[in-house]
Amino acid sequence: MVTPEILARYEAVIGLEVHVQLATRSKLFCGCPTSFGAPPNTNVCPVCLGMPGALPVMNRAAVEMAMKAAFAVNCQVQPFSRLARKNYFYPDLPKGYQISQYELPVAEHGYVDIEAGGVTKRIGVTRAHLEDDAGKSLHDGFRDSDRYTYVDLNRSGTPLIEIVSEPDMRSSDEAYAYLTELKLRLQYVQVSTCDMEKGHLRCDANVSVRPRGQQELGTKAEVKNLNSFRFLKLALDYEISRQVALIESGGKVEQESRLFNSDTWETAGMRSKEHAHDYRYFPEPDLVPLRISDAWREQLRGEMPELPGQKRARFIGVHGLREYDADVLTATRELSEYFEKAAAAAGDPRAAANWVMGDLAAALKEAGKDIADSPVPAERLGELIKLIASGEISGKLAKDIFSKMFVSGDSARAIVEREGLKQISDTGALSKIVDEVLAANPKQVEQYKGGKTTVMGFFVGQVMKASRGQANPAAVSELLKERLG
Ligand SMILES: [Zn+2]
Repeated sequence: MVTPEILARYEAVIGLEVHVQLATRSKLFCGCPTSFGAPPNTNVCPVCLGMPGALPVMNRAAVEMAMKAAFAVNCQVQPFSRLARKNYFYPDLPKGYQISQYELPVAEHGYVDIEAGGVTKRIGVTRAHLEDDAGKSLHDGFRDSDRYTYVDLNRSGTPLIEIVSEPDMRSSDEAYAYLTELKLRLQYVQVSTCDMEKGHLRCDANVSVRPRGQQELGTKAEVKNLNSFRFLKLALDYEISRQVALIESGGKVEQESRLFNSDTWETAGMRSKEHAHDYRYFPEPDLVPLRISDAWREQLRGEMPELPGQKRARFIGVHGLREYDADVLTATRELSEYFEKAAAAAGDPRAAANWVMGDLAAALKEAGKDIADSPVPAERLGELIKLIASGEISGKLAKDIFSKMFVSGDSARAIVEREGLKQISDTGALSKIVDEVLAANPKQVEQYKGGKTTVMGFFVGQVMKASRGQANPAAVSELLKERLG
């Protein structure tokens, strides 16, 4: 067992290779759909089945998404890059090779700034390259799964971009923060859903440890195929402890690929040697090199949306939001856009922020809905906020109206008019109610006149009740003071 004291004498060195499925409608080298959940082996053709003689054709949309992903991590898009064959045998790889990029990737020399432990840290991005995905082996779920493995090639040929970081991370928390920021940026630029449950974002982690102060790197192990943030953190923490324990007991870390077991939270060396071999990369002879003109590159750069960090800063600087609120409201691009629309319609960003993070978030959570499926469109939430600001409805009533909007999808104004819910500020109408309330409670009037001014609250409450919550509380107080004065 490695004690925290021993662990503290070592420093971890971590780099991540993140595979992201690009959100194109068709595959990287053929016209087959990339849709998820189709019956096995239906989204296939001779190209993605690896039939002899079938020729790949590069998907232009995939290249454009790769460029946007590259910009999102501050990489330089290369004017000339090349596809390469990565040869290995596996049953879910019908071609017998993956088409990837090797010595000339589509993008290089980027970085991502992360927040970790209250400080900003820059994590280098070595490169990003395009490649096609393999199919999927199905090892269980069939009656004869004890004897056979099935294969589904629907995923074969779907476009991926692999983003390789520098070994700049020093803890599982930093790796977690990096992956979080990377995912957020890729979602903002809409090149991938990054849905980890569907395997649209997967990551391999290279980990080594060295005594603190030592420059030379330790021997690294690669933990393959981590498909959740939690597993990434657990796998890294386990792997760091394992390597430290090994070194402390006089052993040596082997350079190898390891798999994380999500039941035991441990990593284990892959017994098969399939990942240890030489891929014999060579330039893909069926595809011309990828040339990206300055004009094309700059056109795509011009289409880049605002990134999360820029948006956070703008929400604080321009809309006057608190830092915490800006963080929450930029957690997804959809949420940030909803907020901005509501704020524009309301004319009051801070009130809009409160409603989006408060009543709306609670109602969505209870209904199990996402912001994209909100029954209350942003413009209508803005209209509701405007009605409060203009004094037409009280804040309390607004909450009831909001609940009705959420259920019916109607506008605030329609509900107010249908149900006669306008706030009563008209002195004539209010006077009548005030007089009735005073007449009905002679005892309390006596008390008030006897000096017990706290019964004022009681009167206000009675008037509010009599008006079904529609009386303007400020106007009511005024009137009561006048009558009792
Ligand atoms: Zn195909």
